[in-house]
Amino acid sequence: MTESSHHDVIVIGGGPAGSTVARYAAANGADVLVIDGRDPIGTPLQCGELVPSNEEMRRLCPNVPEMDDLFQTPEAAISRRSTKMHIVPPSGKAMKFDFEGLVLNRVAHDEALVDMAKENGAKYLVDSHVTKVEGNTVFLRNGSTYTSKIIVGAGGHNDPLRRDHWDESSLKIPVKFVLMDGNFGDAVELHFGSMAPGGYAWMFPKSSGANIGLGIQRSFAKGRSLNEYTDEFISKYDGEITFKGAGSLPMSGTIDTFVKGNYMLVGDAAGMVLPSNGAGITIAMVGGRIAGQVIAEHLTDGTPLQEFEHRWNKQMGGVMRNSKRAFKIGSLLFRMPNWVLNLMFNFMTRGIIWRAVTCRRMFWLI
Ligand SMILES: Cc1cc2nc3c(=O)[nH]c(=O)nc-3n(C[C@H](O)[C@H](O)[C@H](O)COP(=O)(O)OP(=O)(O)OC[C@H]3O[C@@H](n4cnc5c(N)ncnc54)[C@H](O)[C@@H]3O)c2cc1C
Repeated sequence: MTESSHHDVIVIGGGPAGSTVARYAAANGADVLVIDGRDPIGTPLQCGELVPSNEEMRRLCPNVPEMDDLFQTPEAAISRRSTKMHIVPPSGKAMKFDFEGLVLNRVAHDEALVDMAKENGAKYLVDSHVTKVEGNTVFLRNGSTYTSKIIVGAGGHNDPLRRDHWDESSLKIPVKFVLMDGNFGDAVELHFGSMAPGGYAWMFPKSSGANIGLGIQRSFAKGRSLNEYTDEFISKYDGEITFKGAGSLPMSGTIDTFVKGNYMLVGDAAGMVLPSNGAGITIAMVGGRIAGQVIAEHLTDGTPLQEFEHRWNKQMGGVMRNSKRAFKIGSLLFRMPNWVLNLMFNFMTRGIIWRAVTCRRMFWLI
């Protein structure tokens, strides 16, 4: 049966970005409908599942206010807390850093975000695929149409609003991962070099087992497939594979414009992933909160929607710029042979490497 209704805001996609937009817009009085193609939202798993703790987020993104209000991760969504990050060059000799991370149960994490948005009054329509947006109308595959004053594209890297109404393209890197049983220690690991050309590989230990995967830039891959790289990397770890997943990550940073008329993009749809470390969950939520707050203000006092871009630049502009720069420099360096890379990971470059991964200026001037 086809349906139709009118709302203040329609959000396409109820992932971290969309559910956070919905939560903050609805909390401030907006009538919000979230439409998502999945049921339940968040499944199947497509994630490495690592996020920084709130304390770590305060260090990484010092201009983002009120982290504890934004990130209320329930215990059930945390598989393991980690205090160490190992950055591993091809030699396998890890550089060890202090890093407070949460390895999530991502499905439970995204469910909790949906629940929070609903508690604040947002409505959800699941198992409903958006095919296109024209004017104020959102069209579903089943023939239903919904209209709203504002339409938000939070549909991830294939968002239909971005696809049809924005020209800018983003570099997307294909990613594969597995969940593996076994004991993998306490530290989260990021691996750089020829095992994941142009990208990186990871091993994030969970309360039981680990999430292990990698992403590559195809132009760096010398004719080898993502499957070959993934199989080779995963074979270094010992354990039974219990789940296999894949996805795609936008890695060229944010696009120039998030707002066009009454259309807005947020999260992966707007490129809100830090390319030097692949962090997208928390960054999508930072963007989602700003978008939700600006939408509510727009509806009550006419605040221009472009305020979303201004506030984003104030809170995240510097961090995103540093991360884009580090990714570009890294992409050039990681074309070098492994023996050169191994030499480059030394006690003198240790600080620079950590600054690049954590999106701070790598050098004094840049
Ligand atoms: C394999 C992999 C590993 C990753 N690991 C990490 C990690 O360890 N840490 C981290 O911080 N980030 C990680 N990321 C990135 C992170 O998952 C994303 O940045 C984050 O999910 C972005 O949130 P989002 O809400 O913008 O998009 P998504 O989480 O992709 O949500 C988009 C939603 O929109 C819905 N949707 C899409 N198209 C339509 C449509 N046409 N109609 C209706 N609904 C639609 C989808 O069903 C989905 O629910 C990883 C990504 C991948 C692919």
